[in-house]
Amino acid sequence: MANTWFITGANRGLGLEFVRQLTARGETVIAACRDPESAGELKKISPRTLALTVTDEASCAACARLLHGTAIDVLVNNAGVSSTTNTLAAVTLESMLDAFGVNSVGPLLVTKALLPNLRAGKLKRIVTISSQLGSIANNSGGSTYAYRASKAAVNQINRSLSHELKPEGFTCIAMHPGWVKTDMGGPNAPLTPPQSVASMLGAIDKFTAADSGRFVNNDGTDLPW
Ligand code: NDP
Repeated sequence: MANTWFITGANRGLGLEFVRQLTARGETVIAACRDPESAGELKKISPRTLALTVTDEASCAACARLLHGTAIDVLVNNAGVSSTTNTLAAVTLESMLDAFGVNSVGPLLVTKALLPNLRAGKLKRIVTISSQLGSIANNSGGSTYAYRASKAAVNQINRSLSHELKPEGFTCIAMHPGWVKTDMGGPNAPLTPPQSVASMLGAIDKFTAADSGRFVNNDGTDLPW
């Protein structure tokens, strides 16, 4: 039986590929992006597209109002930004807060807004696309302050969500997609979006409540904190 998936940042990159693969396998997909009108590729493949800016509480609330009474089985918090001010010399308050807004707080706001829909869902699965650059244990290269810190923060947020929502049977996962050829990953990345998303879906399909709180690679194996 088809499940209902909600994907943020669905207009390009990994988000668009999630919509492609899920639609192809017969799932019900609600695709959210900042500007659905200009999302040409998405409109071709997605039956239901909603406007959502993950850093805007009013936008999250409007989305939740539109979805009132709709059960969502799986939320994929995919929207994210990298930062161009990676060195200590270049870093600014604005660049730090921008990354934290989208990468850390955004998934929390979207989860909060859609909680009634997720509670009504069968699977109660929340997957937040993190990054291995958020691993403190694996930080052997330094720099990339905003992106690394914002992904470490969202891993912590995911862990807290897993505890708070455990009594209700939720599964909350922070997942690294691999290094993928998208606008963010660039042309030298080893993985294509179809490869990354196929691997992530294979893992997401198998998670149970016992996995909640984990930080994993795209194949579902653990990554160090
Ligand atoms: P892209 O840059 O290709 O796409 C980013 C998506 O996020 C776009 O749809 C963009 O929308 C959306 N977005 C950005 N800010 C907001 C916002 N405030 N509200 C709503 N949507 C927003 O990136 P990827 O597809 O590569 O990345 C997807 C996820 O995977 C991100 O969380 C990223 O950090 C993570 N990731 C990616 C890796 C890679 O190698 N590609 C590696 C590790 C992690 P818009 O078009 O409107 O800007």
